[in-house]
Amino acid sequence: MPEAEPAAEEPPADELPARDPGTRRWLFADQLGPHFLDTADQPVLLVESLAALRRSRVHRRKAHLVLSALRHRAAELGGRAELVRAGTYAEALARAGVGAPDPVSVCDPTSWGARRLVRRLDGVRVLASRGFVVSEPQFARWARGRGGRRLLMEDFYRDVRRHHGLLLDARGGPVGGRWNYDEDNREPPPRRERLAVADPWWPQEDEIDAGVREDLDRVEREHGPVFAGDDGPRRFAATRAEALTALEHFLAARLDAFGPHEDAMLAADPWMAHSMLSAPLNLGLLDPLEVARRAEQVGRARVAHLPSLEGFVRQVVGWRSWVWHLHWHLGEDHVRSNALGAREPLPDWFERLDPHSAVGANCLAHVLRSVRQEGWTHHVPRLVVLGGWALQRGYDPAALAEWFRRSFVDGYEWVMTTNVVGISQHADGGASATKPYTTGGAYVDRMSDFCRGCRYDPAVRVGERACPYTAGYWAFLHRHRERLAANPRMVQPLRGLDRLPDLEPLLQQEARRGAAPP
Ligand SMILES: Cc1cc2nc3c(=O)[nH]c(=O)nc-3n(C[C@H](O)[C@H](O)[C@H](O)COP(=O)(O)OP(=O)(O)OC[C@H]3O[C@@H](n4cnc5c(N)ncnc54)[C@H](O)[C@@H]3O)c2cc1C
Ligand code: SF4
Repeated sequence: MPEAEPAAEEPPADELPARDPGTRRWLFADQLGPHFLDTADQPVLLVESLAALRRSRVHRRKAHLVLSALRHRAAELGGRAELVRAGTYAEALARAGVGAPDPVSVCDPTSWGARRLVRRLDGVRVLASRGFVVSEPQFARWARGRGGRRLLMEDFYRDVRRHHGLLLDARGGPVGGRWNYDEDNREPPPRRERLAVADPWWPQEDEIDAGVREDLDRVEREHGPVFAGDDGPRRFAATRAEALTALEHFLAARLDAFGPHEDAMLAADPWMAHSMLSAPLNLGLLDPLEVARRAEQVGRARVAHLPSLEGFVRQVVGWRSWVWHLHWHLGEDHVRSNALGAREPLPDWFERLDPHSAVGANCLAHVLRSVRQEGWTHHVPRLVVLGGWALQRGYDPAALAEWFRRSFVDGYEWVMTTNVVGISQHADGGASATKPYTTGGAYVDRMSDFCRGCRYDPAVRVGERACPYTAGYWAFLHRHRERLAANPRMVQPLRGLDRLPDLEPLLQQEARRGAAPP
C-alpha cells in the first residue's frame, strides 16, 4: 500500500513465512482454492469433523455446504489428499501421523481459537494467511501510517485500488473521475414483484451431495434435530469450477443490475441482483483479487454500468478486506465489546428460527423465513431488519454474532465480529462505524415492498398499528440519549426525539412488548 509505507528501520509486523512447498499442506475447510497450495503436486491433509458441526448447531445448509466442499476437494486432489474424519483436529493430526519427523504446514487460519491451536500442535508450521487483497503486515503498516487519524474504510479502499491498479484511469485516478458511486446505488426497488434481471446460477447436486445428505440425515436420526434451519437443494458453489461458473454468470448476466438496487428489498425476490459469491469466497474457492480483476476486465470490455462495477469491486476488495483486517486489528476481545450495555438474551422464536412463531411484522417474518430456508439473505436485511431489530431490543451482541455465524452459509468468526458486533450493534462504541445503524419503518417502507402487506403501519408510533421498528427506533434513541449526544451524526435524530409528542405512551408500549415476537 504505497501511501503509508513504514520507515525503513521499522520491523515487519509479522515474521511468518509465506511459502513452504516441500511440506504436506493441511487445509482448513475455508482454504480450498488453489492459492492455498504452493505447488501443483503438493500433498494435502484435509480434516472433516461432523461432530464439531453438530456440536455448534449450525444451519443444516451450512453443514451441507462445508462437507460437500471438503469432500469435493478431496475427490479432485485424488491420491495427493488424505481426508481424515475425526472429532477434533488434534485427533485427526495424530491419525494422519503428523509430528516432528512428518510435519505439515498450514496457512494461518481465520479464527482466534484456530490460530492458537495450530501454534500449539506438534509438527505444524504456520505460514502467513492468504486469500485477502493485502497481507496482515501490510495492513498493520497502513494503519500505523495513518499517524493516529481515524481508520476509515473509504481511505483503505482507495489505497487498495491504487496499490493493485484497480479501476484506475491512465493518470492513476479513479476511472470515471469518482472513487465512490454509492449515491447512484441507493435506489428504492422498482414497483414490481421481482427485479428484471436473469436468475442466479444454481449448482447441480451430485453423488457427493447425496452422500452428505445421507450422513446429515443419519446424524439427525441418531441425535435428534441438531442442526438449525431447513434442508434444501444446495444453492452455493462447492468447487472451484462451480465458483468460477457462478462468477462468470454473475458478471455476464447480473452485474449491471447490481448497483442501483443494491440496498433495496423485495418480498418475492430474495436474491435481487446480488452475486451470492460470499460462500465460495469464504470457503477460499475464489481469491478476492481475481474476482475484482475479472469484474474489471469484463466490465471494461463491454462498458458495464460503472456504478454497478465500482459498487461490486468496493464490496469485494473494500468491505470484505476491511472487516477481515479489523478482526485482527481490534483484537480477540472485540467480540465481547458492549458499549451500549446490551444484555437481552436472544428470544427462542428468533434464536431457533421457529417456523411457527407468531411474528406479524412482515419484514422480520420474511427475513427470518429466508434465513431458515436458505441460510442466506442479502446485506440490507442483515443490517436493517435483523441487526436493526436486535439493536433496538438490546440483544447481547456476542450472542447475536454467534447466532449469525451459525445461521448463515457464509458465516465465520472473522466476518461476523466486525459486521455484527461493530457495524450493526455499535457495541465497540464506534471503532468500526461512525454511528449506530438503525432506522424506523419509514426507511424499510422506502427501500422495500414489505410494508404494503404488513399488519403495522410504518408511519404510526403508538397504538395497535404502531410499527415496531418505528417505535423501537425512538425507544432506542431515548435509552441511549446521553451517550449518543456526543456523536455529531446523531444530533438531528436526537432533535427529532425531543419533538415527539407521544414519547411516554410509546415507551410504555415498547416496554410491554418485551421479548414477544412483534
Ligand atoms: C449483520 C451482518 C452480518 C453479516 N455477516 C456476513 C457473513 O457472515 N459472511 C459474509 O461473507 N458476509 C457477511 N455480511 C456482509 C454481507 O451482508 C454479505 O457478504 C453479503 O450479503 C453476501 O451476499 P452476496 O455474496 O450476494 O454479496 P454481494 O452483495 O454480491 O457483495 C459481493 C461480495 O462482497 C463481499 N462483502 C460485501 N460486504 C461485505 C461485508 N460487510 N463484510 C464482508 N464481506 C462483504 C462479500 O464477499 C460478497 O460476496 C454481513 C453483513 C451484516 C450487516
Ligand atoms: S410496517 Fe414496520 S414492521 Fe411492518 S414491514 Fe414495515 S417496517 Fe416492518
